Parts: sequence; C-alpha cells; structure tokens
Amino acid sequence: MSLRPSPFSVRGYPHAPARPKSDAAVGSLSAPGSSPAVRVFCIGRNYAGHARELANPPPRSPVVFIKPASALLAAGEPIPFPRHGRELHHEAELVVRIGRAGRVHGPDQAAAFIDAFTLGLDLTLRDVQQRLKQQGLPWELAKAFDASAPVGAFTDWDASLDLQNIEFQCRVNGELRQSGNTADMLFPVARLLVELSRVWTLQPGDLLYTGTPAGVGPLRVGDSIELASAATGRFDWKVAA
Ligand code: ZN
Repeated sequence: MSLRPSPFSVRGYPHAPARPKSDAAVGSLSAPGSSPAVRVFCIGRNYAGHARELANPPPRSPVVFIKPASALLAAGEPIPFPRHGRELHHEAELVVRIGRAGRVHGPDQAAAFIDAFTLGLDLTLRDVQQRLKQQGLPWELAKAFDASAPVGAFTDWDASLDLQNIEFQCRVNGELRQSGNTADMLFPVARLLVELSRVWTLQPGDLLYTGTPAGVGPLRVGDSIELASAATGRFDWKVAA
C-alpha cells in the first residue's frame, strides 16, 4: 500500500503522487514540488453484463466522462446522501492511477504510465441520470457531485500483476451485490489509456475508473459498503444522512 504525503487533500483523499515516475517525461504545467490537479476519468458501459442490465447496447468505443477532484472521498469517510436525487447506486470499479505525463500511443506503451491501482465507487444518481439520458443531456448532475467517487488506498503497480485478471466484490450490509473480474472489460486498461490519450495529455495523479460489472443497485442512509479484492485489500464506507 502506498499513501503518498501531499499538502493538498480532498476529504482525506491524498492527492497526486508528489514525485512523478519519470522526471524527463513531465510537462511544464505544474511548478516543481507542487501537486498537479487530479482529473478523474471514468468509463461507462465497459462490462457487457452492466450495459445489458441498463438496457444499453455494448459500445463500439469507450464511453468517457469526467468527475472533478471534489468527487474523491477516502475510505472510511462518510458518504453524504446527495440532496438532488433519490436513487443512489453503487458501481464498484477498478481504479488506475497515472504516474507520468504524456500520451499513450499504443497499448504496449500503457504500462509505463500506470503507477498504482485500487478499487473505487462511481456513485450514480440513477433517477437523475435516466432523466438526463432521456433529454439527451450531459451526466454531470448524476455522476459528478461532491463525494461521488469514493476511492480506496492505492497499491503500487508493476507489470508482474495482470490488471486484466483482478477479481473484486462489492458488499452492502454484508450482502454480495457485485462480483466481477477485470478480464470481462470490453476495453482493457491499455486500450482505455490509448483512447484517452487521443484527447488528453495524461498527467501524474490522473485517475481512471474503468467501469462496473453487473449488479449495481440502490444505497440507503445507514448502509455499509465494502469493496474487496485479494489484490487491493478491503475498503469501507457508510452512507450518512
Ligand atoms: Zn461507472
């Protein structure tokens, strides 16, 4: 486990790695020693089972959206139930942290950009999202609100661990709700980083939520949520009023 110290934090979330993986690859956007802003890239419909359960066809290319850094919430912090919707859904996901700046031009280059990984929740107000989808509007109100991205403590990654063979579970009040394996992703992490790199120059500290397997469902005030994997350990949150 690595929790790197940083002068900045959002609700207990330790921000970007203070020291990028390769100094030579870093752009000039951040002053030496400062912590770059964190972007939270998210992928929708990256598991066929989840696309099906929401009656969406499997996408031909990754569905991308972004949450702000204010969405991050460290393990153990209470999840405030948002006031602008009623149906708060858990989406358990593998989260990958970027360790260097630049663009990933091919899947074989992706490993050099991956610094660490963990599990996280892409919390979604499903009722708000349904309304926005029907109106053809962007999803931010449903997915980018404060504390909508609970994230576990990071584990350093190296190529000896296959990111496409990680089993993980989500339990609510002890009941198994989601059980997935990253082998079932429609677009693996390396491909996702290539796709993101067509649009954005990756920065150290950027996070990627890689999509959720089937089994998403509602959370209520007082619920305890646990994410667990042999590769990352266990993380807990509780939904507060
Ligand atoms: Zn998601």
